[in-house]
Amino acid sequence: MRHRIAVIGGGPAGLTFARVLHRHDHPVTVLERDPAPDARPPGGTLDLHENLGQLALDKAGLLAEFQALSRPEGQAMRILGPDGTVLRDWQPRPDDRANPEIDRGQLRDLLLGPLDVQWGRGVTEVVPGTGDGVLVRFADGRQETFDLVVGADGAWSRVRPAVSSATPHYTGVTSVETSLDDVDTRYPDLARLIGDGAMAVYGVNRNLVAQRNSGGHVKVYAQFRAPLDWHTNLDRHMGLNRRAGLDAGLDLADAEAVRSSLLALFDGWAAPVLDLLRHGTAFVHRPLYVLPAPHTWTHVPGVTLLGDAAHLMPPLGVGANLAMLEGAELAESVAVSQGPGDLDEAIRAFEEQMWARAGRWAKITTAGLERLVSPDPTEALAFFDEVQPS
Ligand SMILES: Cc1cc2nc3c(=O)[nH]c(=O)nc-3n(C[C@H](O)[C@H](O)[C@H](O)COP(=O)(O)OP(=O)(O)OC[C@H]3O[C@@H](n4cnc5c(N)ncnc54)[C@H](O)[C@@H]3O)c2cc1C
Repeated sequence: MRHRIAVIGGGPAGLTFARVLHRHDHPVTVLERDPAPDARPPGGTLDLHENLGQLALDKAGLLAEFQALSRPEGQAMRILGPDGTVLRDWQPRPDDRANPEIDRGQLRDLLLGPLDVQWGRGVTEVVPGTGDGVLVRFADGRQETFDLVVGADGAWSRVRPAVSSATPHYTGVTSVETSLDDVDTRYPDLARLIGDGAMAVYGVNRNLVAQRNSGGHVKVYAQFRAPLDWHTNLDRHMGLNRRAGLDAGLDLADAEAVRSSLLALFDGWAAPVLDLLRHGTAFVHRPLYVLPAPHTWTHVPGVTLLGDAAHLMPPLGVGANLAMLEGAELAESVAVSQGPGDLDEAIRAFEEQMWARAGRWAKITTAGLERLVSPDPTEALAFFDEVQPS
């Protein structure tokens, strides 16, 4: 039985779904808003867990290619105190393949392979229950109908309203991201400090994390507790104005002003740690949002959600993993379903399984964020000791 299937979104969830269907010789229409694969920077590195993201790649027949591309040494993790003291220095065993890292761009290209993605096709609305199936409306005014529409369109999903009224809410934690290039050549001391994987420093209600990507690229995340409008009045919200030498408001597009305010926020931390901010290039403001958890809905025939569209949670290394495994599992059940009733049963069963697993991870990551950006920095260290294998 060949169902008319569309997946909205070409992120880890949508591409894994499409790639596994492709492996089962089932046609699928992939609709992505970005005009091209490289239309925007792909983002930082991802660690793919053996029992989640790697299992999904296995289902897509891509595990060997992933193993050739990924960086097992990137699992290394070092924790420093704000004064620069090394508190933990964890190294993976040479044969450890539990959570190797891969650049998002490499993962995207691996998943894309032979897929025929329709780029530049932003979806505005999905309407279930029309006589001929599920109607998809596009930003360019066109519309198309399918038997199944899978919303893999991320945090601000335009498919989600077809099944649920839930919307993401702010966690109280903001992340500002910057990056450094060619660290091994340009900043060898920083390269040594970061090591082969990631380095994190935890302070009171704030942390700095530096993560090595391939090719000497390093992403740095400054995370802190703050009201959503923290940048509108640094004095009132952050107690920073005087030290930062800034006017009341911070222009988030002004890289030097953002750098100054971050240096003021992390004032007193060890000089090499602050060098991560001093040498960072552009600064990207990312308030962290989550969906209510567990996020479930009354089943709607012909429409379902995957990944962040279904269960946006704090970024603690599991969102893409879940997104990919869900994509692979849904594709496998859809590919073998026979008629419309069978397809609907398959989707209902998939949703139950996704809700249960994502609900468990949402609890873990929500508690994790509380402890990693905490008034008591020893909580972060304790969290690391609990999750890191000895
Ligand atoms: C800083 C940070 C670090 C992280 N690190 C990790 C990690 O190490 N491991 C991990 O597992 N997870 C990590 N995550 C989480 C992970 O990035 C997400 O959970 C994952 O990308 C979700 O995949 P997705 O395919 O559901 O959504 P997305 O990756 O958001 O992809 C959605 C796609 O849909 C497209 N789209 C959006 N709207 C429309 C529309 N209206 N029409 C058509 N297309 C549309 C978008 O352009 C995009 O391509 C991290 C997140 C952050 C912010």
